[in-house]
Amino acid sequence: MALIVQKYGGTSVADPERIRAVADHVAYTAGRGDEVAVVVSAMGKSTDNLIKLANDVSSTHPGRELDMLLTTGERVTMSLLCMALADRGIDAMSFTGSQVGIITDTAHGKAKIIEVKGDRLREALAAGRVCVVAGFQGVSVDKEITTLGRGGSDTTAVALAAALGADACEIYTDVTGVFTADPRIVPEARKLARVSFDEMLEMAGAGSKVLALRSVEFARNHGVPLHVRSSFTWEPGTWVLFNDEEEPSMEDPIISGVVTDLNDAKVTVLGVPDRPGISAALFEPLADANVNVDMIVQNTSTEGITDISFTVPLADLGVAEGIVETVAGSIGASGVSHDREIAKLSLVGAGMKTSPGIAAKMFRVLADEGVNIEMISTSTIRISVVIAGADLERAARILHSAFDLDSGQSYSAPLPERQ
Ligand code: ADP
Ligand code: ASP
Ligand code: MG
Repeated sequence: MALIVQKYGGTSVADPERIRAVADHVAYTAGRGDEVAVVVSAMGKSTDNLIKLANDVSSTHPGRELDMLLTTGERVTMSLLCMALADRGIDAMSFTGSQVGIITDTAHGKAKIIEVKGDRLREALAAGRVCVVAGFQGVSVDKEITTLGRGGSDTTAVALAAALGADACEIYTDVTGVFTADPRIVPEARKLARVSFDEMLEMAGAGSKVLALRSVEFARNHGVPLHVRSSFTWEPGTWVLFNDEEEPSMEDPIISGVVTDLNDAKVTVLGVPDRPGISAALFEPLADANVNVDMIVQNTSTEGITDISFTVPLADLGVAEGIVETVAGSIGASGVSHDREIAKLSLVGAGMKTSPGIAAKMFRVLADEGVNIEMISTSTIRISVVIAGADLERAARILHSAFDLDSGQSYSAPLPERQ
C-alpha cells in the first residue's frame, strides 16, 4: 500500500464535470488500496475573480482580509470534491490548511511554511479516509489565515508529501508534463520525460508557472520526487528528480528549455549620485517590504551620475514605486520611471556549465531577429534577458528552434482554455 499525494490545479477542477472526473480518478487510486491525500486549487478563475471583487469594492486590501477572502476559493473545491467522492462510495473528508496544521510566517499574500503538523491528516488516513486539503493556505504563528502566493497549491502538495513521507507527489495540471517551453507559446515544445531539480528550480525561478518556485525548493530540500502530469489525458508526465550523476553526461542536452515570463515590470531610477551606500539605501527598504527584486542593472556613471534599473513582479510594482519614489527624493535622484510592457526570456540547461558560447549564440539569434536586449542576468545554468513584451512569442519560438528543441510537431494533447 502506497501513500500518494495528488494535487489538482484550477483548470482541472474548473466545473462540475471536471470535479467529477477528478473524483473518478481519486476513487480509482483509493480503490487500488493506496492511501490518498488530495490537494485542490480554487475552481478555474476563482482566485482572479475574488481579487477582481476586492478591487471593485475597495482600493485598500489589508493583507489579513485579502487572505481571508482568497482562501475561500480552495474551500469551495475541497467540499465539492468530497461530495463527488461520497457519490462514489468513498469516505472522504475536507480540511483547510489551518485544520491540517500548515503553520506559516506572518507575510500575508506570500507566507512561507514553517512547519506542517499533519496530525489530523494522519488520523483520517489511518481511519481509511481520503483526505482533501484546500491548497494555497495556512495559518500563521499569530493564528491568522495566510496564503502562500499565487500558484501556492503546488507548495501545499509538496509540503504535505514531505510531512506524511508520501511515496509519490503527483501534480495534475492542464498540460501533459514539463515541456521545453510553454506549449501555449511554443507549440513545437517537447515534453521532457525527466528534469533535474536544479533545472526545474531555474525554470520556476525564471517564471515558468508549471510549478511554483517554492514547491520545487521544498521538494528538493525534502527529497520529494514530483510527477507533473495531465488530469485531462492521465498519461505519464514528467518526473522532477535529483541528478544521478554529479556532472551532466554527454547525452544530456545542453539546453533543457526556454522560459517565458510576462509577469515582471521594470523600474528605473534616473540621475542617481554614484557614491557608496546608494544601492543599499534603495534595495534595503524594498527587501524590508518583501518586494522580490530580480534583475538589477546600473549604467556606467558619467560625471558621478548614473541610472539604476531593476525588475520586480508586476504584483509588487505599486508597493515598489511608493518606496522608490521616497528613496529617490532622499538620495537626490532626478526621477523614477516604470515599464510594464517588458518580458523576461530565459534559456535553462545544466549542460551550459561545460559548453561555452551559449550566451553569445542566444544574443546573435535575438539580434538577427531584430529583438533588442534591455537587461541580462545569468546563473551557471541559466541566461535571462529582458526584452519588449511584444517580441516575446516570436523570440521564444526562434530561440527554441535555434537550440534544436523543436519536436517536429505541434503540441498534440488537448490544450484546455485557460480558466
Ligand atoms: P494549474 O492550475 O494546474 O496549477 P498552471 O496554469 O499554474 O496550472 O500551470 C500550468 C501551465 O503552465 C500550462 O497550462 C502552461 O501554459 C504553463 N507552462 C509554462 N511553462 C511550461 C512548461 N515548460 N511546460 C509545461 N507547461 C508550462
Ligand atoms: N488558487 C491559487 C492561485 O490561483 C493557488 C493555486 O491555484 O495554486 O494562485
Ligand atoms: Mg499552478
